[in-house]
Amino acid sequence: MNSQSVATPSIDSFKRGMVLVIIVLALLSTIAGWIAMGARGMMTPALGRVQMITTLLLLALLITAWWKLLPQRAIELGCLLVAFVVCAVCMALAMYSPRYGAGLHLQPLYLWIPVIYVFAFTLTDHKTGLILSLAMLLLFFGISLPYLMRGRAATYGNLTLQLHFVSAVLIAALYFFSSYQHRLGQAQRTLEQLAYLSNTDALTGLSNRRHMAAIIAGELARCGDGRGGFAIMLFDIDHFKAINDQLGHGGGDKVLAALAARAGKLFRDGDSLGRWGGDEFVAIARGLDAAAAERMAETLREGIATEPLFGRCRATISCGVTLARAGDSLDGLLQRVDVALYAAKRAGRDRVEGIILKAS
Ligand code: GH3
Ligand code: MG
Repeated sequence: MNSQSVATPSIDSFKRGMVLVIIVLALLSTIAGWIAMGARGMMTPALGRVQMITTLLLLALLITAWWKLLPQRAIELGCLLVAFVVCAVCMALAMYSPRYGAGLHLQPLYLWIPVIYVFAFTLTDHKTGLILSLAMLLLFFGISLPYLMRGRAATYGNLTLQLHFVSAVLIAALYFFSSYQHRLGQAQRTLEQLAYLSNTDALTGLSNRRHMAAIIAGELARCGDGRGGFAIMLFDIDHFKAINDQLGHGGGDKVLAALAARAGKLFRDGDSLGRWGGDEFVAIARGLDAAAAERMAETLREGIATEPLFGRCRATISCGVTLARAGDSLDGLLQRVDVALYAAKRAGRDRVEGIILKAS
């Protein structure tokens, strides 16, 4: 049976896959850099240690992410922290340790630092992304400050200043886009929520009359194009006023909700069920002939009547059933099934009456 729900598409598995790919790529590039620098004889002891620690950290992250040893959020922030720490250590070595930072070059490092800010905004919401990025920018600036104060003696002084300036502009742009995306997402969710509420009966969670009328009109259009007919069933609780009198209005509400849930289980996937109003419900079932439609309505009647619906309260329904024909209007079809329901009531209730017209 078609039930409505607010679409909440999950991107968690996509994010997890993306983080795994990033860790593997970072691991491969670290190992490749290690091999390439070793082959060219550029490897210093400190650089070797940095490469070793980076490789071990990335391996630990890969194992943690692959076997989900930590929550996804912690793994993502771990990746960000490793990237930041590696860049900060490399920057400090290259600037202040001619001996240990000899093999390290600031230009390629500066190409990677902006990627960390993009990573921060991708992994977190716009506010956290801003706080993390500004904190990292400040730390990078703090590390480079003594170097910048050397003036002309600092070979990459200008480049370092440019890096900080470009980073600040990039963070502002990322914050702008990220908060815009956040607002867009909120608007999208509000629209989905509104669409859900405008199509749903609050008491039973089923489609409401407006939505069912639209579904039936859509099916009639398909039927007119020769793309399949359908059966329509209109059913109403017998003597519901007496149930209300006995249980009170709140108890009556519970009976309505229980009946909706029971009926929902008796229809097939692809059928549609909704509350037409009061104690009246409507359902459509596709691809049934007259006999199958009446059998289905009978199964529904029996399924409601056999077991108590709420507490000890039993209820029965009367049901009208008819098949839609090409050329039927929405009003004409509803009128026909209403006549069938009225016939079931007049014939004594707790029964199914069908008005099946021969194909014209
Ligand atoms: P019948 O066998 O002829 O259908 O008798 P009935 O007593 O069920 O009569 P009818 O279907 O005309 O009455 C429906 C009653 O449902 C009238 C109204 O007080 C009650 N009702 C309508 N909406 C709600 C609702 O949301 N909650 C509750 N508890 N009662 C409702
Ligand atoms: Mg009734």
